[in-house]
Amino acid sequence: MTFSKLVQYFEKLEGTSSRLILIDILAELFKETTTDEIAQVSYLLQGRIAPFYEPLEIGMSEKLVAAAVARAYSLEREQVLKEYGKVGDLGKVAQKLLSLRKQGSKRQKSESELDSRIRGNDEGMTVNEVFETLRRIAQTTGEGTVEKKVSALAGLLGKVDGVGAKHLVRIPLGVSRLGIGDPTILDAFAKLKLGDKSKRKLLEGAYNKVSDLGLIGETLWKEGLKGVEKLDVTVGRPIRSELCERITDPKTILKKYGGEAHTQYKYDGFRVQIHYRHDGNQVRLFSRNLEETTPMFPDIVEAVKKQIKANSVILDSEALAFNPESEEFLPFQETTKRRRKYNIEEMQRKFPLKAFVFDIMYLNGKSLMDMPLKERINNLEKVISGEEVLIPQPGEMVKDPERLQQLFDDAISRGLEGVVTKRPDSKYEAGRRNFNWIKLKRHSSGELKDTIDCVILGYIFGRGKRAAFGAGALLVGVYDDKKDEFVTVSKIGTGLTDEEWREIHKRADKIKVDHKPARVNSILTPSVWIAPEIVIEVLADEITKSPVHTAGASTSSASGQKTPGYALRFPRLVKFRGADKQAEDATTVKELIEMYKQQFKK
Ligand code: ATP
Repeated sequence: MTFSKLVQYFEKLEGTSSRLILIDILAELFKETTTDEIAQVSYLLQGRIAPFYEPLEIGMSEKLVAAAVARAYSLEREQVLKEYGKVGDLGKVAQKLLSLRKQGSKRQKSESELDSRIRGNDEGMTVNEVFETLRRIAQTTGEGTVEKKVSALAGLLGKVDGVGAKHLVRIPLGVSRLGIGDPTILDAFAKLKLGDKSKRKLLEGAYNKVSDLGLIGETLWKEGLKGVEKLDVTVGRPIRSELCERITDPKTILKKYGGEAHTQYKYDGFRVQIHYRHDGNQVRLFSRNLEETTPMFPDIVEAVKKQIKANSVILDSEALAFNPESEEFLPFQETTKRRRKYNIEEMQRKFPLKAFVFDIMYLNGKSLMDMPLKERINNLEKVISGEEVLIPQPGEMVKDPERLQQLFDDAISRGLEGVVTKRPDSKYEAGRRNFNWIKLKRHSSGELKDTIDCVILGYIFGRGKRAAFGAGALLVGVYDDKKDEFVTVSKIGTGLTDEEWREIHKRADKIKVDHKPARVNSILTPSVWIAPEIVIEVLADEITKSPVHTAGASTSSASGQKTPGYALRFPRLVKFRGADKQAEDATTVKELIEMYKQQFKK
């Protein structure tokens, strides 16, 4: 497939506000995609040149990309940056500058004389050629790196037309505006190859284990569904995290599990999935949302090499900063200072980490995903020696609600968040949130006090004093993971300082879009739509039913009867969530409905 063909599809995808049409366009695109292109096309659709967990970045700032645009079209970099200041999207700037250049050249020469570079003759450039060049740019290191990167990108830009330039420029900047989530791509795979988008479920199990859409695509094209179903976990490829549901009282939990719950403390730090292979002494660490975090935590890497007694393992853990003087665990605000790319050594000395290992998914070349939790825990204890940094969590099997309450109180008095109870015979269900894991947190016993992670979908212009900040209220939503859609749940106007309003306005304007994104489902229309990317933590007094919000709303196809959605009452912003949560990791509609029901239980 030529790159120009691919970007024609990008244009169509960018132009639609409907998720169903998004799936149709993708299915059409995939129909034209061959086995040796499907992985590349899947990554490019998400503005990437590798699966999400591979930390392969092109490594070019706005300034460098502007320099490449300038070089490709024989302009000054300042001129490009000036246009960027006006337009706010370097992709559109590249497109505009190329078309101006063409017009200028046309006046001077006849079309046939035009330099093919300027004419944008990309007939011969295939998707794979562009992809490989981008990967080469990413892998360039050593002396003269900057010059080599600029020159290679300029070379590519010289061979594509205006639309191609627009989309190409957005890739190194990480601002691809297509807004396509993984489930939507899986829907389109299913629609084309399995006959119906609802068959996505059949692909999801493998996807949760390998976290690599390109690999799913390639296997599906090559070996069909059978091949995909055979894909399994392996060291070096992160597994999508299993997640917790909430229940507010110990008795209900035990009843749900038929009388017995495996119980562990709930540590409030950040999740670290540990991959280790003795052969080659290789350690890789991944975050809750599958980003590679290995360079951030050299203390954990060293500990894994020392403490793990196995040829290969994958472990699930929660890492917490520890004060060696007072021997106390530090609160999340302190722990999170360890998630950084610079000054790692200093922070490691100040806040050494302990990793509480609560699960094991792979051991000595074999997947343990289908093994019951109880047995996995037995294995866990065998592979970790000592407790210097990695501390295994054998947990406790609890039958009595009073004992569960005691463990919970004990956790709280130690400054922890509460406990996590788990169904003793459950498999490790990658990427799933269900009642196999239940969190019992301090705030969840009582009225609605647990926070909700919302995605900002747009903002409403400020009035009065706030007119100066640009934004006066935010339209926020939660995530419907079944439909891969963002649905609205509230407008938020409180909890932000003047400074935060300015900040949010600045961040929002970088990702504003001119129509409702296809994956957003909303009755309300804000002054400005933005791409669903920024996650905020919100506290509300109550969840109520609401006809104006789409979270949980539905229309019966038989009777046409409308069920209203849910809304937050008295919402206020608690904090901006950092890199640990992507939009798809926000609270789901299912969780919201569960929280709504639990309000009435006390
Ligand atoms: P999410 O469930 O979406 O991760 P969150 O980030 O708000 O939401 P909580 O729901 O409060 O976190 O708790 C779940 C998280 O608790 C897990 O993702 C994990 O990082 C952490 N955790 C701490 N201790 C444990 C444990 N023993 N077992 C499982 N998870 C634990």
